Amino acid sequence: MQNKSIAELAADLRLRKYSSTELTRHYLDRIARLDPQLNSFITVDAEAALAAAARADEALARDQAGPLTGIPIAHKDIFCTKGVRTSCASRMLDDFVAPYDATVVERLGGAGAVMLGKTNMDEFAMGSSNETSYYGPVANPWDTSRVPGGSSGGSAAAVAARLCAAATGTDTGGSIRQPAALCGITGIKPTYGRCSRWGMIAFASSLDQAGVMARSAADAAFLLDEMAGFDERDSTSADVPVPDYVDALDNDISGLRIGLPKEFFGEGLDPRVGAAIEAAIREYEKLGAEIREISLPNSPLSVPVYYVVAPAECSSNLARFDGVRYGHRCADPADLEDLYTRSRAEGFGPEVQRRVMIGTYVLSAGYYDAYYLKAQKIRHLIADDFKRAFEEVDVIMGPTTPSTAFALGDKMDDPVAMYLNDIYTIATNLAGLPGMSIPVEPVAGMPVGLQLIGNYFDEARLLNVAHRYQHLTHWHQAAPAGFD
Ligand code: GLN
Repeated sequence: MQNKSIAELAADLRLRKYSSTELTRHYLDRIARLDPQLNSFITVDAEAALAAAARADEALARDQAGPLTGIPIAHKDIFCTKGVRTSCASRMLDDFVAPYDATVVERLGGAGAVMLGKTNMDEFAMGSSNETSYYGPVANPWDTSRVPGGSSGGSAAAVAARLCAAATGTDTGGSIRQPAALCGITGIKPTYGRCSRWGMIAFASSLDQAGVMARSAADAAFLLDEMAGFDERDSTSADVPVPDYVDALDNDISGLRIGLPKEFFGEGLDPRVGAAIEAAIREYEKLGAEIREISLPNSPLSVPVYYVVAPAECSSNLARFDGVRYGHRCADPADLEDLYTRSRAEGFGPEVQRRVMIGTYVLSAGYYDAYYLKAQKIRHLIADDFKRAFEEVDVIMGPTTPSTAFALGDKMDDPVAMYLNDIYTIATNLAGLPGMSIPVEPVAGMPVGLQLIGNYFDEARLLNVAHRYQHLTHWHQAAPAGFD
C-alpha cells in the first residue's frame, strides 16, 4: 500500500479495497516498526488518527469523499494542531498544546486527510540538517549515517521511508527543497503568500512559506489544491485565484523556455551532482523544451543577505518566548530579569541563540543602516535579477543543493559551511518566488534534487513541468532499502 500514489490510494479507498482505518493502521505500524531508525516523528497520535480515519470511512460510505479523504499524512511540528503538542522541536515549547489548528492543518483536515502525527525538524526551523532539534537528529533513510537535510528533515525522511503518504513542510531559505533533494522526494515551496501562515510558528515572517513534501508532483498537487488560497487571518496572504493544480499536470511543455543560471553551475558544485542535473535537463530537451543560459548576478549575495534579514526577523518573532507569555519557564527565578534570561537560555538551543544575537545586533542603533538596510537593498536587486530572467524564460532550473547528503555531525561545528547548503535555494525566498525540487539520477546511491524556480504564482506550471519529467523517468519511484 505504501508505494501507491495518492490517486491510487484514493481510488482503492473508493472501491473499498481497504478502508482508511486499515490504511491508517498500516502507516502507524510502519512508524512503530521503522521510525526508531530515523526519528522522523516527534509526536504520533494514533488515537486521533484512527478517529479521523473512522470519519473518513463514514464519508466514503456516503460517497462524499474527495481526493484526500482518508489519506494519512503528517505535519511538520511547526504547524499548530489543536489538542496535539506543537513543539517546533524546541525545549521552549516542549509542552505546548495549541488551542487551534493552523489554516493549512484545518484545510487538509477539512478535505478528509488523516493526520498521523507531527514530524521532527530543526529547532524553530533554523538549520539545514535537522540536527538542531531538541528531540535529536533525524537520519536519512538512504543512509542512516547521513543527514536528511533541514529544516523539514522529519517530513522528508518520513515521506521517503513511506511512513506517510505525504507531509507538510515550511521553507524560509530552502527547508522544503533541500531536505526533499537529500531524501529523494518531491517538494514544493509556493509563492510567498500562496498558503496561509496563520498558525505556523513564525521564524522570519517575510520569508516563511508553507508547502508540500510528497513522492511526486502529482501527489503534491493534490495537497496544494487544498492548502493554497487566501486567508483573511494572515495579513500577508495573497488574494489571487488558485488554479486547479491537478488539472494542469499533463499540459504539453513543448516550447518551454528553461533558463540555467550560470551562477548555479560554478565552483562549489559537486561535479557528479552537476552531471546528474545536466542529464535531467537533456530529458527536458527531449520533451521539446528550449534551454538558455541566463545570469542572476546578485544571487551569490543571497546567503549573506539572508543571514542578516532572517535573524533580524527571528529575533523579533522569538521575543514572545520569554517564560511569561509563551514557553519554558526556569525554576526558582531570583527576579524578573533572571526569569527572562534563564528561561530563554534554557529553552533555546545554541543555533537559535546565535540567530537571536545576530538579529538583535543588526537591528541595533548604529548597525541598522550598515547591515539591515543594506541587506534589504540587495534583496531588491536579487528580486530584480529574477524579474529580468523571467522576461526571457518560463522556468529556471539548476541543482537544489551543491552536494548529496553529508554525514551526521559533519557541519555542526562550522555554521558557515552549514549555511552554504542553501546557496541555490535562498534567493528564491528573498524574491518570494515559488520553487520546487524533484529527484533525478542519484550519485553513488544518494539522491540528487533538480531545482525548478517559477514566476510568481506559477505553481501550476512548476508542478506540470515536474510531472512531465516524472512521467518519463522513474527516479521518484525509487525507495530506500531496508524500509519495506
Ligand atoms: N537552512 C536555512 C536556515 O537555517 C533555511 C531554513 C528554513 O528554510 N527554514 O535558516
